[in-house]
Amino acid sequence: MFNSSFIEISRSALQNNIDFLKQVTGPQVQFSSVIKGNAYGHGIEQFAPLAQECGVTHFSVFSADEALRLTSVAPAPTTIMIMGYLDNEELEWAIQNEIEFFVFEPERLIQAVAVAKSINKRARLHVELETGMNRTGFDLNSLQNVISFLISNKEHLELKGLCTHYAGAESVQNHDRVMAQQQRFKQQVDKLLQHNIIPRQLHSACSAAVMAYPETHMDMVRVGIMQYGLWPSPETHSQYFGQHKEKTDPLRRLINWKTRIMSLKSVPQGEYIGYGTSYQASRDMTVAIIPVGYSWGYSRSLSNLGHVLIRGQRATVVGNVNMNVMMVDVTHIADVQKEDEVVLLGKQGNESITVASFGELSTQLNYELLTRLPLNIPRVIIE
Ligand SMILES: *Cc1c(COP(=O)(O)O)cnc(C)c1O
Repeated sequence: MFNSSFIEISRSALQNNIDFLKQVTGPQVQFSSVIKGNAYGHGIEQFAPLAQECGVTHFSVFSADEALRLTSVAPAPTTIMIMGYLDNEELEWAIQNEIEFFVFEPERLIQAVAVAKSINKRARLHVELETGMNRTGFDLNSLQNVISFLISNKEHLELKGLCTHYAGAESVQNHDRVMAQQQRFKQQVDKLLQHNIIPRQLHSACSAAVMAYPETHMDMVRVGIMQYGLWPSPETHSQYFGQHKEKTDPLRRLINWKTRIMSLKSVPQGEYIGYGTSYQASRDMTVAIIPVGYSWGYSRSLSNLGHVLIRGQRATVVGNVNMNVMMVDVTHIADVQKEDEVVLLGKQGNESITVASFGELSTQLNYELLTRLPLNIPRVIIE
């Protein structure tokens, strides 16, 4: 092994999560697996083939570079949808390779048709509608122009979808806003339908909307965080448990992040540990040196706070997290040895370090923590 740590990805956990989500939406709703942000830190190259094995045939990415990475590992018949960034050069590549993409401003629409004409191949569009998030999407005022343009260029495009995105379906605080967005979406879709502009699919739901707003499922759901086994927010989680009798989480986290003890050291009472004076040994201690630091995405804000698992027991980070190493207190762990497995995230024995606990300690969201796991930590698939 030529790396100081590695990430395990569980196939059975992914299958479990996808099965659960499909059961929530019903079989007639298409499942699009959202793999932006390097598949939420899981690794596009490792995750996508695994997802295909679990029955996924539709992927959503943010940008053309992610779509390109996906095409290199997912040769089986698969639909790729770019939800965000695409420059004019990449447009040609996307259209040539039958990759679908969101359009949300006139310039993109005009360019897409121009490229489609020039290479004599239809552009596969999802027209994104502005319904209240105020990020990307055509608003009501621009809709008439969009309609005319779509009608006069219909031989150069395939309207794959009409879509929108909700501004915070993971919190009841945003309930009114999300309901208003649904209302606006319906109005705008109706307007397009009246002009005989018929999309193949309507779609709007992310993970939180899948759980909290069943009426948003429509023809397809775009699911990110929950397929990786994490809830979009503590609120979505408790809402689910409020409505269901079972106590066990229907989702299983895919990821374990592991390393080994690099070295052990005895530290006499009264000594400081690591840089500066943030930690002073209150007794004679045994400290394990762990070859992971903030350059690997282990946040410096976990200094003197974070926990890892060694021999099935929790060990606390002592002193500051350094660039490449950190120290943990293993005084209480009998028979601790150099090379012992260290779990930074995930399970060992009966103990577990959850992404949420990790995230709360370092005040990062699940999403942020996962996507910050560096690309160059090796990912290995486990059952
Ligand atoms: C990220 C994203 C999703 C998926 O969100 P999750 O909360 O991870 O399920 C869906 N749609 C769009 C447009 C997104 O940007």
